[in-house]
Amino acid sequence: MGLAATGSEAPEGTLAERALEVLGRVFGYDAFRGLQAGVVEQVAAGGDALVLMPTGAGKSLCYQVPALLREGVGVVVSPLIALMQDQVDALRELGVRAAFLNSTLDARQAREVERQVAAGELDLLYVAPERLVTERCLALLERARIALFAIDEAHCVSQWGHDFRPEYLQLAILHERFPRVPRIALTATADAQTREEIVERLALRDARRFVSSFDRPNIRYRIVEKTEPRRQLLEFVEGAHAGEAGIVYCASRAKVEETAEWLAAHGVPALPYHAGMDAATRAANQARFLREDGLVMVATIAFGMGIDKPDVRFVAHLDMPRSVEGYYQETGRAGRDGLPAEAWMAYGLADVVQQRRFIEQSEGDEAHKRVSTAKLDAMLGLAETIECRRVRLLAYFGEASTACGNCDNCLEPPEPWDATEAARKLLSCIWRIRESTGFGFGSQHVIAVLRGQDGPKIRQYGHEKLSTFGIGADLGEAEWRAVLRQLIAQGLVVVDHARHQVLALAPESRALLRGERSLRMRRPRPAARAARRGRGAKGKATSGTGAAGLERERGSAAGGDTSLDPAAEALFERLRAWRRTVASERQLPPYVIFHDATLREIALARPGSLDALAAVSGVGQRKLEAWGQAIIDLIAAPGS
Ligand code: ADP
Ligand code: ZN
Repeated sequence: MGLAATGSEAPEGTLAERALEVLGRVFGYDAFRGLQAGVVEQVAAGGDALVLMPTGAGKSLCYQVPALLREGVGVVVSPLIALMQDQVDALRELGVRAAFLNSTLDARQAREVERQVAAGELDLLYVAPERLVTERCLALLERARIALFAIDEAHCVSQWGHDFRPEYLQLAILHERFPRVPRIALTATADAQTREEIVERLALRDARRFVSSFDRPNIRYRIVEKTEPRRQLLEFVEGAHAGEAGIVYCASRAKVEETAEWLAAHGVPALPYHAGMDAATRAANQARFLREDGLVMVATIAFGMGIDKPDVRFVAHLDMPRSVEGYYQETGRAGRDGLPAEAWMAYGLADVVQQRRFIEQSEGDEAHKRVSTAKLDAMLGLAETIECRRVRLLAYFGEASTACGNCDNCLEPPEPWDATEAARKLLSCIWRIRESTGFGFGSQHVIAVLRGQDGPKIRQYGHEKLSTFGIGADLGEAEWRAVLRQLIAQGLVVVDHARHQVLALAPESRALLRGERSLRMRRPRPAARAARRGRGAKGKATSGTGAAGLERERGSAAGGDTSLDPAAEALFERLRAWRRTVASERQLPPYVIFHDATLREIALARPGSLDALAAVSGVGQRKLEAWGQAIIDLIAAPGS
């Protein structure tokens, strides 16, 4: 018998009461968050569920608690083999009987786990999907008692997404072979299309749907104009996140390596991660990121799914993601612990041009290109908006909200600018150049003509005689590039990638030239001002979005002021040092021992007894037994 009250010990109280009891005793939490309680009741009572919650909302408890409440083993399907060991270790630290089955086990180890399954000795079993659908595994499960099936990262069934896993398509078999076992599918990918694919492919038509608010109020969004990306990144990290853990996303493997080296050379401890590295180095880097404090992981999007490190304080993008879903998933890896965190992106003309090119040159058919273009347009809209970023983001996921007070546009409202006249000048200039020369030119030349910058290339083609020469001398280079970026983003100007990135007008530009359409955008900040930064996420309290009609997920931690007084700060640091020692002795990531948020609360409350310590969120029965006294002693020791 595990920790959980199961069928043979006559259960007491209602399902809801028993769920709360398990939550407190095993996990050390005193209340469910948001929709968790409803999901737990649905699944514990034997029903199916489809759970859509953003990263960090607490999806794991949605199946872990019901697995402990129901008789038998909860089987968790996850594509994240590399993380199963950590997940299982973390559960064992809580006193939960957990194990995994995947290709990292040798035959003898696998047989031992199979024996435990058959003997009913496990509360939770993590299985790789390709393993689960083998006849051997299905037959094993048929002999065992199954509490539930949890299908984690359920969006992996979607052929549109970049996380597609063909093995996931076979998971419908669970429904056929185990019609009476409840199933719960979970994902942080929220768009309607993915949702329908999950329902369809996993045969979850009758599952109850739980769609939570997708807001992550503790994450501050910032999108800056790209001028000198690496330097901007360094300023961002040093200014607001020195010594903190973070993830930097880059589009290419080469850029990942260069950026990691560059950061390291400038004193920021950084490691690379991409799919082109050998598996051992990749695994070692991932393990270091999880286990050491304050490392920066520079990675392609190959990194991150399932990384449940709670104290990632920032996610930075040096290249724009292809879709809002991707952006949201990646930025969502920040601040899972609910403490303030920052999502930062540097974005510029090259991003727009590059992404448009990816789509044009992709192998996909027309339908695929249309979908990709629509997704990119939404992402560009987010990058260009002068309104609250969060309102935009949530609207994309179908949620209404009001200005958040915790994004760059809310904190430092950009200056709106009617750029219609400037856009017309730029369009006419592109047109005149083509007309007079017979072929197009790239952005630099066009902007030089507009600004009347005489030079050999201008003379060579006689462009100093054009009527548009110098008509844009009133604006700077940065402003012209911003206008051009807008025009390309909106599809009014096209870039010919086959021929030296030359610019041409799209037919849609006529409406603007004829004055039937206007262009409003943010006035670009001169490059010098872009450097003025600092005071990032560590600033004061964040306010919520008041996502209309939708439940606010995060508790007080999201909004609270997180600065500690000097005495508490000193104790917090000592607790962290203690945690580092314990974690490295046991070869576990520190957050598996206790989260930062828990250590903070301890540092503030200074509990003097085990009972008082037990009241701190995140201190469950097993951890109290294992470390309670050590912590009480540490608090009482001289110097604390
Ligand atoms: P997700 O899988 O949705 O990204 P996790 O299950 O990893 O999120 O949970 C995110 C964090 O929130 C974890 O550190 C977890 O311990 C914590 N958490 C989840 N539910 C609760 C709760 N009811 N009370 C306090 N902390 C919680
Ligand atoms: Zn905002």
